[in-house]
Amino acid sequence: MIETVEWRPEYGPGAPIVGVVYGFRVKATGEYRYVGQTTKRVERRHAEHRRVAKQGRKTPFYDWLRKTPKDAYEVVVLERIGTTREDLGQAEISWITLYRASGDRLLNLSEGGLGPTGVIWTAEQRKAAGDRARGRPTGVHLYGPEHPRWGHRHSEAQKAKWSAMRKGQNSGPDNPNFGKFGSDHPRSGHVMPQESRERLSEMRRGALNPNFGKSPSAETREKRSVSLHRYHHVNNGVFKDTCRHCIHDAMNSEREDES
Ligand SMILES: [Zn+2]
Repeated sequence: MIETVEWRPEYGPGAPIVGVVYGFRVKATGEYRYVGQTTKRVERRHAEHRRVAKQGRKTPFYDWLRKTPKDAYEVVVLERIGTTREDLGQAEISWITLYRASGDRLLNLSEGGLGPTGVIWTAEQRKAAGDRARGRPTGVHLYGPEHPRWGHRHSEAQKAKWSAMRKGQNSGPDNPNFGKFGSDHPRSGHVMPQESRERLSEMRRGALNPNFGKSPSAETREKRSVSLHRYHHVNNGVFKDTCRHCIHDAMNSEREDES
């Protein structure tokens, strides 16, 4: 089970949280129909979604959830975020962008990440919510300028402490997808149509690439070089006299033969 640290409004911007981005995946086709984020346990969030569907909320997702039996889909943890709520929102945006681009018919109303629900409200909705909120005790669900910590900044020392706390939280065995291969992996059985591949690749080309203009470290370049050698040469039984890894391997095996 994945531990989460539930977000509370009084934490304010930049406070550390642990949450996950999850997806509703149709078992038969591998298609994702909804991506969400939560700082609650996924099982609990899932139960909430089922309850809201049962109560009859009219949105494409809840319409779909109502008519889809529980055993026809699974709720998959796509990513665990142990930094900030803002990062969790960004991660949700990335997954929604990815699945929309790969042709999954997501039923999300928004592109994720924005505000408590990710939905951009209309003026009428905002007014209705405001009217409801005025009947509430203060300190509950206050956002933006109404929030007591609005504009408040955390000290550099506090931020450094949080940064140290969350170092490596999503790497190695702490990553929810660590060691998951084949049918266990959330992308299992999912083939991306050619058109989507091209669209995704275009999105990452040149200045749009997050690494644009950055040169990789020597260590990164070495890692890349070794994996290219393994993939193209070792796995295919190919020897290239222009590849220093091929030469290195050949020299090592000669040495072993000699001894
Ligand atoms: Zn090689």
